[in-house]
Amino acid sequence: MPIKNDFDNPDEYWAWHKKNGYSSFINVNGTMTGLGSSIVRSAVREATLAAMGRFVKIHDLQSHASEVISRLTGADAGCITASASAGITLSVAGCMTGIDPARVEALPLDPGERSEVSIQLGHLCNYGAPISTAIELTGARVHPFGQSTLATGYQFDSTLSAQTVAALYVVSHHVVHYGQIPFAQFVEIAHAKDVPVIVDAASEYDVRGFIADGADIVIYSGHKFMGGPTAGIIAGRRDFVRAAYLQNIGIGRGMKIGKESIAGTIATMEQWMERDHVAIRKEETTALDLWKRALAGIPGVTVAIVSDPTGNPLERLQVNINSAEAGANAASFARALGKRDPAIIVRDHEVELGYFQLDPCNLGPEHAELVADALANVLSNGSEIRPLTEDLAMERNSGVDSYLNWLSVKI
Ligand SMILES: *Cc1c(COP(=O)(O)O)cnc(C)c1O
Repeated sequence: MPIKNDFDNPDEYWAWHKKNGYSSFINVNGTMTGLGSSIVRSAVREATLAAMGRFVKIHDLQSHASEVISRLTGADAGCITASASAGITLSVAGCMTGIDPARVEALPLDPGERSEVSIQLGHLCNYGAPISTAIELTGARVHPFGQSTLATGYQFDSTLSAQTVAALYVVSHHVVHYGQIPFAQFVEIAHAKDVPVIVDAASEYDVRGFIADGADIVIYSGHKFMGGPTAGIIAGRRDFVRAAYLQNIGIGRGMKIGKESIAGTIATMEQWMERDHVAIRKEETTALDLWKRALAGIPGVTVAIVSDPTGNPLERLQVNINSAEAGANAASFARALGKRDPAIIVRDHEVELGYFQLDPCNLGPEHAELVADALANVLSNGSEIRPLTEDLAMERNSGVDSYLNWLSVKI
């Protein structure tokens, strides 16, 4: 796998885990915080290293970042923060305070008169934490409208008042995918009442469309599809970006980003603009084909190549399990794959629907082949997996349980 993840020697990849006693696993789940997000390519790793050994003025680095963000997204300006989640908080806070340092220091206890954020109910998602928390950290109140599966223009319009400070639009597989207000209409309604539109596009490959279509601020993750160090990228109108950046003297302090990650994120954005996206897509398709062949003819197992729900240019292999024929359910198979050495961590957040998915975006050297072997082995031996009735519930709660178990029980 030389193109996207450039380790010369496959053994080097695991040597570090072994030396430190970390679990060895292959990530076919996705860019997940709990799994270390992304593999960062050597050019980007070198950029972080160069910054680590030097003093540099953070405002210089952030000005450079702003230029690169403009080139990348077409926005006026931009800045880097600790994460996309921090980017949401800082952007909302910036809309509340403008360029007024006294207002910045007053947050979160004195949010002011204009401190409501409108969001359609189907967008109030959880990406590891509730998105409402990212808004409320500023002192703002969330003003949801519509029902989970239906939000209309008139409902949105009627929530916009003198108290509304911003409207948040979320683009994600985490949100409801139908019955939501289309982006163009959302912008039109908000702008008619002079309400700025903030877009959470943390995991979206389209780094230009939302700005082009009228967003005032758009937020991306540096460490997801772009393959950078942990960071949030804020892009948008100069006045809003400046106001978001000013939060570093207030609530943003706890979300600060260091020189190494700003330098690394600049390099990440530059390599994203130069990346051979077609070659990477081809590499990902080769992995999907390999896994498809490995699963062919196994009783109770059918596969389908599925597109990303938000239209990102990537596909995943969906593995559908007929548990009566396969001998175990999808959750039990996911768990069994996760117990191998190296563990295979599949995309299992819809496992209750009878399938899991394999994401080809985060493979290290020879990982695709190891996944193919594991799939063929585990799925053709379903009757040997003792189907645990609690597997489904365990998979559902695994995110929170992993925090509760930390330093508590050995798992
Ligand atoms: C991942 C994600 C976030 C959080 O991103 P971080 O950079 O990890 O904080 C926010 N919103 C959406 C839609 C996401 O997918």
